[in-house]
Amino acid sequence: MSKKRTAVILGIVLVGVVAAGATTPAALPRENAVAGGLWTADDTLGEADGLIEEGEAVSPFADDLPAIANLDPELRSAMQNAARAAIDDGIEFVVTSGWRSAAYQQSLLDAAVIEYGSAEAAGEFVLSPEESEHVTGDAVDIGRTDADSWLSQHGAAYGLCQIYANEMWHFELATSPGGDCPAQLSHAGG
Ligand SMILES: [Zn+2]
Repeated sequence: MSKKRTAVILGIVLVGVVAAGATTPAALPRENAVAGGLWTADDTLGEADGLIEEGEAVSPFADDLPAIANLDPELRSAMQNAARAAIDDGIEFVVTSGWRSAAYQQSLLDAAVIEYGSAEAAGEFVLSPEESEHVTGDAVDIGRTDADSWLSQHGAAYGLCQIYANEMWHFELATSPGGDCPAQLSHAGG
């Protein structure tokens, strides 16, 4: 069987570069990082699972793609409103991961268990299909680094908050527009 390795995410170059300097694999923020991003070898997964191929620059307005279309409508509209405002500041969003099918999430978890050597270690970086906010359509991963910086400054105006300290690209609707974002968790599963 061919081992077509499908990148989940392009992610954030700078995070990957910084992470590459870390001494242990477990120290790397892996969900989306370019250097050592998560992979799935599952050839049965496709666009209908929300798969976004490596290097694909998916627009936040690509409503025809399941990864975007299956997001919670409120999250999708908040992301798109923020993206429009960011364009005015010369910043372009790309979606590196949006909605994911349970099968897709499970394949990520399986790959992470292999990569990190145990389910416990993998759980810091990839949640199960039952736990992942991507599977319910309540989370979106945005790149590139300039977009993440913009969102960390302006996202709360749209209700968008960074949830995990080690995932600067992962945003959820976690406050009312103009409200305060909750304190960040150190990492997924933490
Ligand atoms: Zn995410």
